Amino acid sequence: MDILKTIEKTASGRFGIARLKPYQILVICRIMEQEETAYVRDQIVILPTGTGKSLCFLVPACLCSGITVIVYPLLALINDQAGKLEKAGIPFVKLCGSMTAAQRLEKLSALDKGARIVLTTPETIRSNAVLNSLSRKKISLLVVDEAHVISKWGKDFRPSYRNLSHAVCRLRPHQILAFTATASDETMKDIRVVLRMRHPLTVRGDADRPNIIYMTHRTLSRSQGLLEILRQCAKPAIVFCRTRAETVRYCIGIRKELRDNPARYYHAGLSPQERKALEDWFLKSPDGILTATSAYGMGLDKKDIRTVVHVHLPQTAEEYLQESGRAGRDGQDAPAWVIITRRDILSAEPYSPLVKIFTSPACRRYALLGAMGQIKMECSGCDFCLNRVQNTIDGEREILKLIRRRPFGLDSKTASYMLAGSRNRYIGRKENIFSPYWGILDNWNPVYLTQAVERLSGASDPFPISAVHFCNRGKLLYPSDNLLYNFIASILRRIDDGYNRIVRKAGRRGKGGKKVFGPGEAAPETVRDSTGGSLLDIRQD
Ligand SMILES: [Zn+2]
Repeated sequence: MDILKTIEKTASGRFGIARLKPYQILVICRIMEQEETAYVRDQIVILPTGTGKSLCFLVPACLCSGITVIVYPLLALINDQAGKLEKAGIPFVKLCGSMTAAQRLEKLSALDKGARIVLTTPETIRSNAVLNSLSRKKISLLVVDEAHVISKWGKDFRPSYRNLSHAVCRLRPHQILAFTATASDETMKDIRVVLRMRHPLTVRGDADRPNIIYMTHRTLSRSQGLLEILRQCAKPAIVFCRTRAETVRYCIGIRKELRDNPARYYHAGLSPQERKALEDWFLKSPDGILTATSAYGMGLDKKDIRTVVHVHLPQTAEEYLQESGRAGRDGQDAPAWVIITRRDILSAEPYSPLVKIFTSPACRRYALLGAMGQIKMECSGCDFCLNRVQNTIDGEREILKLIRRRPFGLDSKTASYMLAGSRNRYIGRKENIFSPYWGILDNWNPVYLTQAVERLSGASDPFPISAVHFCNRGKLLYPSDNLLYNFIASILRRIDDGYNRIVRKAGRRGKGGKKVFGPGEAAPETVRDSTGGSLLDIRQD
């Protein structure tokens, strides 16, 4: 029987896979071709998460004459694989750190009874007892999963992975395979050196995940934008945040507003027990929301995550594709949302290079895959290609309408609570409730809306403000881009000039015609209002 038929038969018979993907066939065929040859070229396989890389080594593991040792960085991954092998009825040996040397040797004795797969961690394989026992056997394949953690340059660096060099010397495997989803040049070099690979061949899979639809949501407030997305999207959902504090903050916000969906937060600062409990909870949850840092990832294979949201974008396309790729592992369509604020659109130096991809009028998929060195001519779905890019920033138009209509006498809180349709003390006068603007943003949380109004007013904006100015700490709101503002400003300037003229005249009439102010006191330059701020400050505010 030819080699391809044998491979396909094993994949369908043992694992129930009717058709292998081209890159799977490529990797498996190479392994099988080199099974009996003396000259071997090892392989580095770069495949995005969720593309069936485990078949690339499990199928050959069933066909090779010797033993396959698979090294995983996490116990969770070992347990996951062990479950699959059990289901397929394939005997295996599982070695973990919690076992004693005697227990490990006892487990390894199963290799004499027909088991041909060993699942282990880099820490366990360091042990002399394990290495002695394994080195007596023929090792056909040494498989290193998530091999990017070998690299010192990556965020997931695991020092124990560097000791695999020693294991390679002792076990002398016939072929070495390294699997990873990320592949910068430094990482590749580190993998090659540490694993002592012989002229490795690189197989790079298609990084595109056609069932993921890239979407953006333009809003004045990230917190509000997140709620808007979560209200209408399918769950379970995962929300990626930049910091540990943010995971907690957004989680609290979600719990307050979306009471029907359980929400939890996850980050590297939690204890291993807490994290394990959270992982188990999320794995089983049909409608949960998890706010997480990039610590959530490796080793967690929840197939039915329906939505991924990025409150902030990571720094590289590689990381973004990996994180957004957590959605839709079951092959069904899943959106990956990115929250874009007004600041992101206007900023000349955005917080991440990816912001440009999600704010420019171009296909997101094309740009993301382009950053990975891949050219994609067809897009299976992004907000640009689907013509669903928002023309306006959520909330902005309504706020500006109200400010134009009521330029005076509204502070930011009153304006926000009015727009949000909230009947509390901030609403002030009763007639505010009868305003046509009352409640036009009733889907907004008033606190987030207040922050949005303040941000829009330019208090913390580093760029030229085109919409609203605040003065007197939000006591008055002036639209800056219309005639009314210029009119008011000109009146204030005249009052100011008039006052200065009076002061100058009074000064001339003073004693000796030179000085009317106290010693060391400077003549007032501008009119001061009751709170001490210059009325003209509204122009520079
Ligand atoms: Zn597109």
